[in-house]
Amino acid sequence: MEASSEDCSVKVALHVRPLVGDERLQGCKECVTVVPGKPQVQIGAHSFTFDHVYGGSGSSSSAMFEECIAPLVDGLFQGYNGTVLAYGQTGSGKTYTMGTGFKDGSQTGLIPQVMNALFKKIETLKHQIEFQLHVSFIEILKEEVRDLLDSTPISKSDTPSGHAGKVTVLGRLPIQIRETSNGVITLAGLNEVGVSTLKDMVTCLERGSLSRATGSTNMNNQSSRSHAIFTITLEQMRKLHPVFGGETSADEDMGEEYLCAKLHLVDLAGSERAKRTGSDGLRLQEGIHINKGLLALGNVISALGDEKKRKEGVHVPYRDSKLTRILQDSLGGNSKTVMIACISPADINAGETLDTLKYANRAR
Ligand code: ADP
Ligand code: MG
Repeated sequence: MEASSEDCSVKVALHVRPLVGDERLQGCKECVTVVPGKPQVQIGAHSFTFDHVYGGSGSSSSAMFEECIAPLVDGLFQGYNGTVLAYGQTGSGKTYTMGTGFKDGSQTGLIPQVMNALFKKIETLKHQIEFQLHVSFIEILKEEVRDLLDSTPISKSDTPSGHAGKVTVLGRLPIQIRETSNGVITLAGLNEVGVSTLKDMVTCLERGSLSRATGSTNMNNQSSRSHAIFTITLEQMRKLHPVFGGETSADEDMGEEYLCAKLHLVDLAGSERAKRTGSDGLRLQEGIHINKGLLALGNVISALGDEKKRKEGVHVPYRDSKLTRILQDSLGGNSKTVMIACISPADINAGETLDTLKYANRAR
């Protein structure tokens, strides 16, 4: 089983959270069963198998990290891009799982664990390799990209006196997605913050998470409608020492080897259906845009996961949404992708849970 899934460019893990306080208060029953010893769940008469299933008793987030995410961190050092996607309905545990919440940003989330592993590895290699790390943190809402780490105030001359603190948001320039001739996606106008310590990186995560939360009047609403992407870029300059006393080839004389790779950690918008988002025009439009990203992502991932389709050179619809366009060079090809489908075990969520299981199943 391990061997066959190794070839697949997209791995899918399921994370079943425990019943939460609200659900207990409402007297909800659990309707999802994890099959012991198998990466399989049952809900009603349906049964689904994934690469990994976490949840129920005895599952730990460090197991999820070691099995699903650590290979992507290792990949970064080998020059491979990676993407981790947390998918699921609002309240299913995406933010908790990723560690993108400002309040929940404890060391248990995947992003803090990625950071720890990254700096540990750098520590062991820093004598042979020169490293540079950058992070960026964006939010996609209504097909618009917002820089969560941008704190640039508009220039003094444009600032009405006495309002300097209030107008920072207006000073932000729109971010544009560009593709270089060798297929690298870049975001023009985005802050890429250089970090040299674990503490610096944690600060960026917290700053962006806070900015995401306060960017709207209703925190829950905002985070359920937008995709948040925390990106770590690792650059490596390896010093190749010529072999003294032996034969020195032209290659060795070159002296340096450069690698650059990025890891996207994505807390996706809530997967609940658009019809639930209300009937007023504005909200509905937002609902449609969210679905655009998630729909495009589903199509891209299923095109990538289907080896037969890939060999036939079937068109992968990256351009159908901002989300897939931004992730384009980090999904498929040599890059490693992990989708973590998050679900609630509660019977009142059975409909949404079934939808999530089907979406995630299609990604395999
Ligand atoms: P989402 O980001 O998908 O909307 P959250 O991550 O905010 O969902 O989780 C919703 C609630 O469930 C939060 O109160 C969170 O603390 C709790 N929760 C989520 N996953 C777990 C888990 N694995 N164990 C315990 N509580 C969890
Ligand atoms: Mg969330």
